[in-house]
Amino acid sequence: MLARERSREEWRDLLAGAVTDPLRLLARLELSAHPISRRIVAAPAFPIRVPEPYLACMTPGDPDDPLLRQVLAVADEERTVAGFATDPLAENGANPVPGLLHKYRGRALLIAAGGCAIHCRYCFRRHFPYADNNPGRRGLESALDYLRSHADIHEVILSGGDPLLLDDDALDWLLARLAGISHLRRLRIHSRLPVVIPQRLTPRLLDLLTGSRLRSVLVLHMNHPRELQTGLREVLEPLRRTDVPILNQAVLLAGVNDCVDTLVTLCEQGFDAGILPYYLHLLDRVAGTAHFEVEEERARKLYDALAAELPGYLLPRLVRERPGDPGKLPLAPRFQ
Ligand SMILES: *Cc1c(COP(=O)(O)O)cnc(C)c1O
Ligand code: SF4
Repeated sequence: MLARERSREEWRDLLAGAVTDPLRLLARLELSAHPISRRIVAAPAFPIRVPEPYLACMTPGDPDDPLLRQVLAVADEERTVAGFATDPLAENGANPVPGLLHKYRGRALLIAAGGCAIHCRYCFRRHFPYADNNPGRRGLESALDYLRSHADIHEVILSGGDPLLLDDDALDWLLARLAGISHLRRLRIHSRLPVVIPQRLTPRLLDLLTGSRLRSVLVLHMNHPRELQTGLREVLEPLRRTDVPILNQAVLLAGVNDCVDTLVTLCEQGFDAGILPYYLHLLDRVAGTAHFEVEEERARKLYDALAAELPGYLLPRLVRERPGDPGKLPLAPRFQ
């Protein structure tokens, strides 16, 4: 088998082999007899999903592992908490055609694939109507028509779900069509997949990103410095030598990264791997995620401390998303 084909098989196999059974996850981490095993949700509506390269970075025996916390469904998810809703961003209203969100001027977000390689428990899309937004080629056509008829859109953001769940042939098809829309200039890909299955960054994907008429930007999503150890650092090597900027967005999460040292390490080690910090998001107040919330006042204090530690170019923007705003709202350092 050619090396290229082998790399194609590899990420698909890792995806198919992701752990979806919480008991198996706990067993792998030697936590079957730990009290945490009595707090898990056995069959959550948003099932658990953990690919092997991500699992391999967790510390066996540690129920508070920051990577485990992001993926294990625990009883806290089932609490109803005032202020946490199923569609806090009112995105279902910014959804002019299935599979497309057009909230901000100049750019539109295309839901290129409905699913994800990992199921992050804090995710703002855990209640999103994926079933209506996993359009396949036919559905993507109507999103493409929308883009064609809106000459004020200059940037298309492939998101999801995770757009890199599309295989390279499907991406090739889509990118060719996007490049054919003359008013588009930039192509941005928002993906967590290379973090959790680094093998997804195939040589062919690299060719697609660097070979398009559109200027490409890759925005990763990692929250903890240990997520660089999945093999991500190594697979980014060839991409770093291209002109494709690699950015990261993180979510500020209680019990995962709500600590200045962790965030400094994330930004610095990310930079060493060729990644620039982009956003640090405050949690969207999604039903079932209250146990991840860092209250705004504390978030600002943490951020002030972070701004005091890092050079400006390594400081992500602390942002909150509010329905109706023209963009993400920055909560700048106040140094108070
Ligand atoms: C976050 C988001 C964007 C991108 O915003 P940037 O500030 O450009 O990163 C675009 N569209 C939607 C619907 C979004 O939620
Ligand atoms: S990969 Fe992204 S979209 Fe998918 S569950 Fe995680 S945070 Fe949500």
